[in-house]
Amino acid sequence: MDWLEILTETTQHVKALVTPLIGTPISRKTYGIGAGGDQKKHIDVQAEKAIIETLTEHGLDFTLISEESGIKEFGRAPVYYVITDPVDGTTNFLRGIPFACTSIAVSKSPRLDAIEAGVVTDLFHDTTYIAQKHMGSYCNYEKISPSETTNLSEALLGLDLNTLNSTELSENLNTLLTKCRHIRHLGANALEICYVADGTIDAFIDIRGKLRTTDMAAATLIIQEAGAQITTPNNAPLTNNLDPTERVSFIATGNTNLHQAITEILEKG
Ligand SMILES: [Mg+2]
Repeated sequence: MDWLEILTETTQHVKALVTPLIGTPISRKTYGIGAGGDQKKHIDVQAEKAIIETLTEHGLDFTLISEESGIKEFGRAPVYYVITDPVDGTTNFLRGIPFACTSIAVSKSPRLDAIEAGVVTDLFHDTTYIAQKHMGSYCNYEKISPSETTNLSEALLGLDLNTLNSTELSENLNTLLTKCRHIRHLGANALEICYVADGTIDAFIDIRGKLRTTDMAAATLIIQEAGAQITTPNNAPLTNNLDPTERVSFIATGNTNLHQAITEILEKG
């Protein structure tokens, strides 16, 4: 089965459906709390519906692991897991800030290190990242590779500090922030991890312990297949469960030297 083709078709379906809703009042309509713990917005619900529709139209049996609906089986005795964050960057989307994506991954076991294929599609631009295990990563069908920047003094570091209590800002994190050339917080983690995969940015970290594994499942394979690094803050492989309630912290970098520079600073305390 060509999962990449199916996942790409699925994300394009999502994009076609939600793009006309950018900035509209209906897109902000809320539907209670999703499985991942955030408020479900109209666009989240519509995007997930488009994903389920496309996959079931193909007659596929699968267990959906979604930020919105949680874990649901479709078809008979499914072998594959489909892990999705239908819209990553919902707040950006609703405000018309052009940085949001849809993210879908496939695995045969519900673990972050078992992802076999992943697709992340930018909802505002004509950009789609894809990866299949052992086959490399591509952006719009061109092979991608990460940044070769090894010095923090030249690096652009992305980070997610959303809802981080300022008292949690450790001295180590402060040191890291002052040593980097540029700092960004863009607001859609899956897309930011893909930006590390193709060298748009040099590193991206989220050490809040609040990110769902459903949000970064596809991007995790994309960054690894591009030859970049993604690990826990202690430099261990990411082996988290794929479940909307599972939370993860990570450090993603373009190369091992930069990875070492960042983990050393964060571990010092
Ligand atoms: Mg989402």
